[in-house]
Amino acid sequence: MVFLGMVLSVKVFEVNTKSILTKTSIEGCDYSLNQYVGCQHACLYCYAKYMCKYYNYGDWGSWVLVKMNAPNLIKGRYIDGIICMSTVSDPYQPIEKRYMLTRKILKYMDKRIKLRILTKSDLILRDLDILKTYGNIEVGLTVNGFNRSIKKILEPHSPAHNARVNALNEIHKEGIKTYGFISPVIPGLVDVESVINEVRGYVNYFIIEVINLKGAGAKFRRFLDKTAPNSMKILRDSKLMADFINNLVDIARKYKVYKIITHFPRKWSTIYPNTNLTKYAGCKI
Ligand code: SF4
Repeated sequence: MVFLGMVLSVKVFEVNTKSILTKTSIEGCDYSLNQYVGCQHACLYCYAKYMCKYYNYGDWGSWVLVKMNAPNLIKGRYIDGIICMSTVSDPYQPIEKRYMLTRKILKYMDKRIKLRILTKSDLILRDLDILKTYGNIEVGLTVNGFNRSIKKILEPHSPAHNARVNALNEIHKEGIKTYGFISPVIPGLVDVESVINEVRGYVNYFIIEVINLKGAGAKFRRFLDKTAPNSMKILRDSKLMADFINNLVDIARKYKVYKIITHFPRKWSTIYPNTNLTKYAGCKI
């Protein structure tokens, strides 16, 4: 491993790895592909911060591991199954401008592979030329419309909402299948219907994800307790959440929402018999 010191305000570690694909149980994915571990976007709610337990480099958002040989590990291989890029990092975080690992992987990867990309960054537009060469690709941009002061704290270093919406528009115009990943939905802080109406012309479908309160960690929960106590009240109360979810299901039925992902405590599992608790599967258009 090579420690490069601080690059773009984060500690950067260059490593070579044995494999680049990991079997995953994430719904809709067979393999995850993380060419980076760690993320400069440093979202306060990021569930992937659990990676800090395995890499003792500091707080989430302060370090990035760069898998230098990732493009070569995927070169010329055909993988049967859906590959999701990425699950514990953003493939288009700022450091990608320097390392271009994502671009190289896209270039080398067998174009018949079923590829799903999720990002918060309009840097993905740089790679439109290669994305277009894939036969089975879906590109998602996370959109949530947080107001400026909330975004500054929850998503301090990711591109603005408008840039993401514009990226979806540009990608969609190229005939590439796109989806809006409305996440993390926090009662009172995200107006799901208004985001849908803003973006619906640029996507083939939506996925809605309600905040993962446990995965988001104690710091996030403290922030929400202090800044948005009413949101927290709903998130912690199974009955209030039932109303909130039922409202989301109504919205999902009205628009092109493929599914609603939730992360409720197991003990709530009997409270949502009609919504199947963990997801609402609508129609993918
Ligand atoms: S962009 Fe995604 S991976 Fe990166 S910090 Fe935010 S939620 Fe985590």
